[in-house]
Amino acid sequence: MSTPSSPSYPSAAEVLAAVPKKLYIAGSWSDAAGGGTMPVDDPATGEVLCEVADAAPADGQRALTAAEDAQEKWAATAPRARSEILRRAYELITERADALAALMTAEMGKPLAEARGEAAYAAEFFRWFSEEAVRIEGGFSTLPDGRNRMLLMRRPVGPCLLITPWNFPLAMGTRKIGPAIAAGCTMVLKPAPQTPLSSLALAGILAEAGLPAGVLNVLTTSRAGEVVEPLLTGGHVRKLSFTGSTQVGRTLLAQCAPAVVRTSMELGGNAPFIVFEDADLDAAVEGAMTAKMRNMGEACTAANRFFVHSSVAAEFADRLARRMGALEVGPGSRPGVDVGPLIDRAGRTKVEELVADAVARGAEVLVGGSTPEGPGCFYPPTVLTGVSPASRLMETEIFGPVAAVLTFDDEDEVVATANSTEWGLVGYVFTQDLNRSLRVSERLEVGMVGLNTGLVSNPAAPFGGVKQSGLGREGGRVGIDEFLEYKYVAVPV
Ligand code: NAP
Repeated sequence: MSTPSSPSYPSAAEVLAAVPKKLYIAGSWSDAAGGGTMPVDDPATGEVLCEVADAAPADGQRALTAAEDAQEKWAATAPRARSEILRRAYELITERADALAALMTAEMGKPLAEARGEAAYAAEFFRWFSEEAVRIEGGFSTLPDGRNRMLLMRRPVGPCLLITPWNFPLAMGTRKIGPAIAAGCTMVLKPAPQTPLSSLALAGILAEAGLPAGVLNVLTTSRAGEVVEPLLTGGHVRKLSFTGSTQVGRTLLAQCAPAVVRTSMELGGNAPFIVFEDADLDAAVEGAMTAKMRNMGEACTAANRFFVHSSVAAEFADRLARRMGALEVGPGSRPGVDVGPLIDRAGRTKVEELVADAVARGAEVLVGGSTPEGPGCFYPPTVLTGVSPASRLMETEIFGPVAAVLTFDDEDEVVATANSTEWGLVGYVFTQDLNRSLRVSERLEVGMVGLNTGLVSNPAAPFGGVKQSGLGREGGRVGIDEFLEYKYVAVPV
């Protein structure tokens, strides 16, 4: 099944009307305890799109109880049945990609074409894990002493808590829900408060695909800390899978310690993008456009620091500035727009401050660099050259459409600088020298490398970071392992 070739997007009003705005617990839509709601804003206008249920701590307990109650029966469900639910959900997302794209654009701001790309990417996690669900293998062997046999079982971890960010509202959910369903785990999903609607729509799709009540429960809330902490410390959640900032990840790891909750952590990045003197500059500029501008720069994989060999730096920067400057900025729902608004005012203020700091330290603005008047959280594509290594944007995620270009002359020097950060999610390397490409890929302290490409994300690949970018991997053959335990049974001969 493939996405229809010419999109036909429904209006935001139509897709908003179709989404339940309630909590999804034990297979039913319900109000939050006390009836609280929270607004969902349109980042292109700053106006409120709708209100959704705002879960209280009591709702968190209710959702976890539903997941616990469903766990044993779900774990005993045939792998083929779990697989087919995922497959049906993949097909439903694919059929409804245009409507899901319109929903993501409304709540998150990204252009419709990118949102449609995310719907396809999100669906692929369900297809991939529908294929993995029926390939969970154990083992059987005779131990070296010859007197014992070893039976190795794979068992689901148990009820999981899944926490997702706002930047990929659908795909960050399917990347966790897919392997959890495939492994036989039940779960509580807490999406980001800026983008709850995609997760609520996804819950509806999974119910339609036949997912039993209680296997997936969705809590939308503006009180994440109050709702989540008691769940993590209470001893009933067996696994936390978190995607978000490193700062919040550290807090959650601490909260997981008392009850020794197993964790997967997909955290922030500070990706180096290295262009050597022998790089194909066309490919490097194309790769830079993808690595920088995908999702308006609001991606953990976004190129954050461009290191370009001094012999090609001026040409690279000029070409990148021409490409970035030609992009159309505007509401993601408007045809022809390449760059939507940033998620909120706070996100834009951070970008403004980082650019101002870099300029104060001597950076030159080749294109962009000033906030437009008017409503919405827009910021123009910006290229800075002559960036001082002391600039704040060297040591924090920019999370916006700003490319900061520095120069280098020596391979050892650039590898050392690229590695001089607490993060280690992804790095990009552009060179036509085979030995150098392998050598630098090995030496970069990251979980993923884009070699002459600006895109690494793929459901069939193990996604994740080293150092303070995270623990564990999502996707690939290993993605399901995060939701499975080994159980060893000793059997005398
Ligand atoms: P965030 O502020 O860390 O929030 C992520 C999620 O955690 C949200 O649902 C948030 O809800 C929740 N949260 C925050 N504090 C919490 C607490 N004390 N207890 C429980 N939940 C809590 O990140 P974000 O701004 O949404 O997303 C951007 C970040 O995600 C960036 O750092 C980016 O690099 C990272 N990211 C990483 C990956 C990856 O795969 N490595 C992928 C995408 C994004 P509230 O907002 O209500 O607090």
